[in-house]
Amino acid sequence: MALKSAEQYVDSLRKLQIRAYVGGERVEHVVDHPAIAPHINTVAKTYELAHKPEHRDVMTAKSHLTGELIHRYTHIFQSTDDLIKKIQMLRLLGQVTGTCFQRCVGLDALNATYAVTYEVDQAEGTDYHTRFKKYLTRVQAEDLMLAGAMTDPKGDRSKRPSEQSDPDQFVHVVERRPDGVVIRGAKLHNTGGINSHEILVLPGTGLGPDEKDYAIACAVPADAKGVVFIFGRQSNDSRKLEQGCDAGNPRFGVVGGEAMVIFEDVFVPNERIFLNGETKHVGQLVTYFATWHRANYGGCKGGNADVLIGATAKMTKVLGTDKNAVVKDKLIEMIHMNETTYASAIGASAMGYALPCGSFMVDPMAANTVKQNITRNVYQIGRLSHDLAGGFLATMPDAKAFENPEISHLVKKYHQAKPEYDVMERVKLGRYIEGMTSVTTLVEAMHGAGSPQAQRIVMLMGAKIDEKIKMADAVLNGTDDVEGLPLPGAPKKA
Ligand code: SF4
Repeated sequence: MALKSAEQYVDSLRKLQIRAYVGGERVEHVVDHPAIAPHINTVAKTYELAHKPEHRDVMTAKSHLTGELIHRYTHIFQSTDDLIKKIQMLRLLGQVTGTCFQRCVGLDALNATYAVTYEVDQAEGTDYHTRFKKYLTRVQAEDLMLAGAMTDPKGDRSKRPSEQSDPDQFVHVVERRPDGVVIRGAKLHNTGGINSHEILVLPGTGLGPDEKDYAIACAVPADAKGVVFIFGRQSNDSRKLEQGCDAGNPRFGVVGGEAMVIFEDVFVPNERIFLNGETKHVGQLVTYFATWHRANYGGCKGGNADVLIGATAKMTKVLGTDKNAVVKDKLIEMIHMNETTYASAIGASAMGYALPCGSFMVDPMAANTVKQNITRNVYQIGRLSHDLAGGFLATMPDAKAFENPEISHLVKKYHQAKPEYDVMERVKLGRYIEGMTSVTTLVEAMHGAGSPQAQRIVMLMGAKIDEKIKMADAVLNGTDDVEGLPLPGAPKKA
């Protein structure tokens, strides 16, 4: 059966020779490093839940290529039902882990590559789609974790990829050989890459006809020669090394453990290349990926907010403010914002449509609306959580103070709220709220799957303002009155 267990996932990572740096130092093995381990635990949950009978329906799917039962994280969306189940899966995983579980980037990158390779082959007579299906069959059979890698460093933002003084600011082909290509460059903000089996490298921006070397989509093993991961610094990362509750979410981490991944002249054989110079199809590839991924946020952030709302609600019980009508109303506001984005993501999925290759795309307007709301609602939900949890979020002593026999009785005494709750309960809740409303989490909600302006551009294009003007004209000035009824004030017919 093509479903890895959580243990098999971790074991398979251990077999890879991933070249990674954390805190500026080379890591012997990613699995054993305390800064990465919580993020590996989170991904392990995605594997574990697929084996639970009660979650099978949302966590697994039937491969349209082989008919085998596969993990939904390797599935190509075959219907609107698949799109809805994906959002349900994300909410479930968000509820179970309270953080980012990383595999969605690879899933959406797989789907985008599947759809675009089909369209490129139709237009250009290439055979990328057949090649990609072969690769996908292996991904499904081995239940691989893929990291989608899209965001280039970009260098001087006023210049196109081919105009940069340093051409490596965008991943590009530096050598072509009969058996493959050599790529160079880097991808930033790479979610889950450091604990993935494979990296699916895709262009991150539309390209002009003279930018063929940048139009490269390919799969690279995470431990391929020349691949280097440098782990990103988070606002609470040194707390992870302490392995206590100060880390906020000690078992699963805060956000996705992002890294920069560098490709130092990495050779990619032909069978792993899925786009190579077809610049005019790159824009579609980027759009497909972004549209699917923007809808996701109504699911994953919905699950994360469920945990945050739960932690905040419990904090009000610990503090003894839970019966206050104003407190209840603030919780209602948090729930309202959360359910609005979840409903939009379900709506985007229910209104999905078939692409030329037969797979299904979410409704772009609804998907972009989801992500736009996330850039606000995650901040606003966090603000209300801060409001209800109180100022001690920013001032409480570290966990070690609660353990030091010289002072523990004092810090406990003066942090005790309602006597029926252990003081450490309040501390743990506070640290979780702090982590899930801190700068790393908020910035991820702002810029993940594209910065707010990217969604606004799509929304304006999709809104068809001219048609809305015509609607307004027709309502105010039109002559299409309801049959048999006169216009108000019009002379009565004889
Ligand atoms: Fe998945 Fe959400 Fe993390 Fe993106 S931010 S990888 S959609 S959990």
